Amino acid sequence: MELKINTIPENERRKLPEDESTLGFGKIFTDHMFIMYYDEGKGWYDAEIKKYEPLVLDPAACVLHYGQAIFEGMKAYRTEDGINLFRPEKNFERLQMSADRMVMARFDPDFVLDALKELITIEKHWVPHSEGTSLYIRPTYIASEPFLGVHPSGQYILYIILSPVGAYYATGFNPVKIKVEDKYIRAADGGVGQAKTCGNYAASLFATKEAEKEGYAQVLWLDAQERKYVEEVGTMNMFFVIDGVVITSPLTGTILPGITRDSVIQLCKSEGIKVEERNLAIDEVINAFENGKLDEAFGSGTAAVITPVGLLGYKGKDYTINDFKVGKLTQKLYDTITGIQWGKIEDKFGWIQKATKD
Ligand SMILES: *Cc1c(COP(=O)(O)O)cnc(C)c1O
Repeated sequence: MELKINTIPENERRKLPEDESTLGFGKIFTDHMFIMYYDEGKGWYDAEIKKYEPLVLDPAACVLHYGQAIFEGMKAYRTEDGINLFRPEKNFERLQMSADRMVMARFDPDFVLDALKELITIEKHWVPHSEGTSLYIRPTYIASEPFLGVHPSGQYILYIILSPVGAYYATGFNPVKIKVEDKYIRAADGGVGQAKTCGNYAASLFATKEAEKEGYAQVLWLDAQERKYVEEVGTMNMFFVIDGVVITSPLTGTILPGITRDSVIQLCKSEGIKVEERNLAIDEVINAFENGKLDEAFGSGTAAVITPVGLLGYKGKDYTINDFKVGKLTQKLYDTITGIQWGKIEDKFGWIQKATKD
């Protein structure tokens, strides 16, 4: 398929705000977007980079009624010698996996990644410069057929938008307070927990709002069956360091297979640190805490990279981890992954790709 490129005139293009500390997260978008369409009889067509503008959707479009909608989250980083992407092929692989689970049409991941690079090349002046800032990339894929029957849509739209974002840790790399959620659940065994599909996030809002009222930043989900095993947090996978061993939930279908999670596991293993992907009961975490063996806890995800967890609230009791200080391994993983992303540490794993075509 041919990629059409229809840029807007130079004099209509907007500029990145001069004060990059005001960027925040996902508030402003660049001048252009990538979009392509699918029709059952026809396949994918009209792939185009064009002006960023509202979509035209029929009010009966499937996505608005039955929620066939998936997305990805990735970033482009400005470095001394160009703009980097971090393991972008993994994001499009995962988008394909989410599409399969939601019975949405397959697409060519190489074509879409290449189109993303064309888009970033056109928008490269939107990649912010200050330390810790980046260009957030949001591939989005929705069902657009106007039809009210509950069945897979025969028409789809896949698009990518870009948003310059500020440093996640503008006020410092500080631990957060997390509530262990023992009432509501995120995803049940056999459900869609492993897909980055919109309904999972809508379903998480209520519990998160309750936790925020109680002074916590996020909730740590437990398994849906027994409320016994730790799963993940918001848009982060969760790691506990118990007696020197790094433990994280296995990918059994209820949690999102995070790319940062995979990178953390590979990095730990390469340093000779023992990593276990296994069911971890919340009682085991609390026991470790009581025996002084809960060394560190942290979350992993594209937006924040690594988030130190300084406190767990469980059944009305608060457990402060590592004196509410950033743990040694937590800090090291953050420094290493961000170092690789910003081209300051050698990319031994082959994780970095050039984001632009020039
Ligand atoms: C996106 C996401 C993650 C993190 O995945 P990364 O690929 O590391 O960004 C973890 N959990 C959920 C629920 C997510 O949506």
